[in-house]
Amino acid sequence: MAEKRDYYEVLGVNKGATDAEIKKAYRVVAKKYHPDTNPGNAEAEEKFKEAAEAYAVLSDPDKRAKYDQYGHAAFDQSAGGGFGGFDFADMGDIFGDIFGDMFGGGSRQRQSNGPIKGANIKTTVRVTFEEAVFGTQEELELPLKDECDVCKGTGSQPGHQPETCGKCAGKGQVVYTQQSLFGMARTVSTCPDCGGSGKIIKYKCSNCAGSGFVKSKKKIQVAVPAGIDNGQSIRIRAKGEPGINGGERGDLLVTVLVDRHPTFQRQEYDIYSTEPISFTQAALGGKVSVNTIDGPYELEIKPGTQTDTKVKLKGKGVPTLRNKNVRGDHYVTLVVQVPDKLTEEQKNILNQYANTTGVNARSSKDSAGSFSFGDHKKKKGFKKM
Ligand SMILES: [Zn+2]
Ligand SMILES: [Zn+2]
Repeated sequence: MAEKRDYYEVLGVNKGATDAEIKKAYRVVAKKYHPDTNPGNAEAEEKFKEAAEAYAVLSDPDKRAKYDQYGHAAFDQSAGGGFGGFDFADMGDIFGDIFGDMFGGGSRQRQSNGPIKGANIKTTVRVTFEEAVFGTQEELELPLKDECDVCKGTGSQPGHQPETCGKCAGKGQVVYTQQSLFGMARTVSTCPDCGGSGKIIKYKCSNCAGSGFVKSKKKIQVAVPAGIDNGQSIRIRAKGEPGINGGERGDLLVTVLVDRHPTFQRQEYDIYSTEPISFTQAALGGKVSVNTIDGPYELEIKPGTQTDTKVKLKGKGVPTLRNKNVRGDHYVTLVVQVPDKLTEEQKNILNQYANTTGVNARSSKDSAGSFSFGDHKKKKGFKKM
């Protein structure tokens, strides 16, 4: 496949263009290359599709932001482990929106006898937290349509040929003209007799019941890229519905559902967790082992570490989709555990300690106020490790 052109370049606008400028530019380009103005011109059709795709992305604030950040890789798995989200099926709305007043509607059915790309199929895949972080391969089994072997997609019994539809003379569409406020209005719609195929099947193929397609279960490999997040989708080209009249297959859009992790929370590419530390560790400092997605990590804590201290483990977060060597961070909140069971010996030691600080542990009710929990909790920044 040829190198994809920059979407801004396709529409002839600069990167800072406003929504209105983008819409205006798209109208100009789309009108110039519209199939109605360029019948049978494949190059114009390509340009038209290219512009429609560019507009679909740049007119959507989310998609535009992703595109600005990741380029085409944001939407195209084949361009290197991207994630999906751009859906050609969305384009119905865009056409309705922008051509409604330009071509009087029905423009999408204009070419229904020509090649039409097959519909996209949507499905989901469930992965664990770790699989989403590090990437994985999933195998899906889906019923996919294929051209019928017996009739080679014609839908007719072998030995018979589909007949040209009489109503539309094989065009697949019928044209109605009627008087409107602005003169004669021309409405084009899909032929009701042949459903747009231009052909009538009298002797239906028994293998496919005349549809020309058979469904069978297919195994499909899905490369789930490292760093993918819950709800993002992966586009697998040409694994959707077969095209019509020689059109290319649609795509398969796989939305990834990520299981929750028992201890890690994820936000974008950062991971958050809490880790208990003993009160002696907190007081004396030392090494504590904290869990990260790479396994246990030895963290050196300072003497006098307060509860709820947050520590940043740089680069221990989730790999980014764009470059898996660039990773988010892991923020650990250290929570000091106060023992609820003490042996006599431990009590004695703690009482001795209490005496040295002038606080009588046995009469803590009287000394309320001399201890103040919570003051240090606020305004604690993240420490870099
Ligand atoms: Zn058949
Ligand atoms: Zn017809």
